[in-house]
Amino acid sequence: MKLRSRSKTSKVKGVKSTRASGKASVVKTSRNKIPIVKNLRKKKVSLGQKQPKRISHKQNLPQTSKIRHKSKKKSELKKTEEEKDSCRPCKHDTDAAKLTKWSDVTILELLEILKEERKHHKNVDEEEICPICRCELYDDIFKLSLKKIKEINKKQLGDPSSIDVVKFKDCLNHFYHKGCTDFMVQYAEQDGNSSKKKTKKKVKKKAQYLKCAVCSLIYGEFIGNCPPGTMSWELYKKGQYPCEGYEKTGTYIINYTFKDGFRNGVSYGGTYRQAYIPDTKEGREVLYLLIKSFKRKVSFTIGDSVTTGCKNVVVWNSIHHKTCTHGGIMTYGYPDATYFNRVKLEMADKGILLEQGEDPDNVSKKGSITIR
Ligand SMILES: [Zn+2]
Ligand SMILES: [Zn+2]
Repeated sequence: MKLRSRSKTSKVKGVKSTRASGKASVVKTSRNKIPIVKNLRKKKVSLGQKQPKRISHKQNLPQTSKIRHKSKKKSELKKTEEEKDSCRPCKHDTDAAKLTKWSDVTILELLEILKEERKHHKNVDEEEICPICRCELYDDIFKLSLKKIKEINKKQLGDPSSIDVVKFKDCLNHFYHKGCTDFMVQYAEQDGNSSKKKTKKKVKKKAQYLKCAVCSLIYGEFIGNCPPGTMSWELYKKGQYPCEGYEKTGTYIINYTFKDGFRNGVSYGGTYRQAYIPDTKEGREVLYLLIKSFKRKVSFTIGDSVTTGCKNVVVWNSIHHKTCTHGGIMTYGYPDATYFNRVKLEMADKGILLEQGEDPDNVSKKGSITIR
């Protein structure tokens, strides 16, 4: 209870100052008047306790939201504003909560983690602030007495909805304010071929994802903008198309086919590509992830080809393939000692990872997928 009233108090302070300026919208005006928090933090350090009470992170939020909501409709914006006022800080049913499967972090838990961090690193400044609003996760966490912290902690445990800091499930010690995570959820439009009437409905379907601002880990489904096409693959026996350095195993040959098409009324050129993967444990894992990447539409995009100079054609989308069985790095072929690791990182950057229960060893010997 006390925690909530603390933030309310700081809000009221902002209101007073803006009312004097005679602006109609109290909340908005106070936001506009707030200087960049980074500078405030610096000031606070230099002036110590004499500095007037720091603004709450909640007041600073809209500066970030303005940028992040650029692509959102007005109605969506309104809804978020309403949710923020009515539901906060009870946020366990938000999209961000569902995507990241976050857990609450009480003030005492955070203090213990930060103290532990301080043992190993001298400066943990970045860990005690929220990456979105750049304000302290819990105000004055290192200045409050342990007695006070335990008191707040007890209240938080008694009323978990008052816990305002969360940790995403798969991130290591990356903390956020619950409210700030609202601005991190992004939507990927399922882009269909606009020339076909049937696919028009699909265009509206949205996939949600959230990218950790610290480590770039993607939660949810990031859907790319790869145009309609087909990926097929087949395992060839040992000796038929051997990859250099992997002569004792078979080889998977992947074929990608994209027809010419139209996107947003503009024509683009299709392409045909072939790639090779040896039938090893790591090779099968990469193939499995490449199939997943294709399904998520992140393997290709429409752009200008660096190699041919053609404009508006289907091109690779930063997930490198081996288009030759031999010749090494110079010919985009094997051997290449770090290729599997590199391509896995490239896919991870687009949110393509092995998830629990997935067994890439079971990847089929022959298959085909078509995306529309
Ligand atoms: Zn924040
Ligand atoms: Zn993270």
